[in-house]
Amino acid sequence: MTDSFRKPPVLFCDFDGTITLNDNIVALMKHFNPPGWEPIVRDIVALKKSVRQGVGEMFALLPSSMKEELTAYVLENAGIRDGFSELLAWCREHGVEFYVTSGGIDFFVYPLLEPFGIPHDHIFCNGSDFSGERVRITWPHACDDACDNDCGMCKTTIIRRFPQDRFTRIMIGDSITDFAGAKLVDLVFSRSHLTERCRELGLPHIPFETFRDVVHHLEQGDWNS
Ligand SMILES: [Mg+2]
Ligand SMILES: [Zn+2]
Repeated sequence: MTDSFRKPPVLFCDFDGTITLNDNIVALMKHFNPPGWEPIVRDIVALKKSVRQGVGEMFALLPSSMKEELTAYVLENAGIRDGFSELLAWCREHGVEFYVTSGGIDFFVYPLLEPFGIPHDHIFCNGSDFSGERVRITWPHACDDACDNDCGMCKTTIIRRFPQDRFTRIMIGDSITDFAGAKLVDLVFSRSHLTERCRELGLPHIPFETFRDVVHHLEQGDWNS
């Protein structure tokens, strides 16, 4: 790990299940339970359906008139993982760029991150349109030509903007939306399914529970010496 830190680190942090304790899309579907969401999730988890297609289909099950309810539910029920403020403070103190790369949706990602003062151009997530009868997800950060994964919000497209020869690229994540990016970066801080995936593929990773664990490991890098 010491070697990899000679270049300045840049952090790409997942939102659902990483910054927040649970996946907010799954929580919304479980709570409001629109008929038909469960097979869609099963197909996404089994990698039979792309995240973009599946997430689009699930939200299309919900009427746009529920916007307030959906937003309120996430804001009231999402918990932030311990140590998140400490990690942001560490990044500021050391001049390390911190990006939120989220497969979540703008209507809950931005309000939940509001208290933390992350610049909006450092937050990447999907968009939403409540003007039609049903909720339509928009994809302002879709895959570029180098990614054929149909991600929705394409983390690898963003990661590739930071060339490997100039940055130590570090991803923090937990699940399917992080699988493609994990293969690109120098180091993964992982939880849950992403830990299993990194183990299977032999990718350099450090399992973590709170963001204090992440700070603890970052402190040991010699990138600023
Ligand atoms: Mg996640
Ligand atoms: Zn992609």
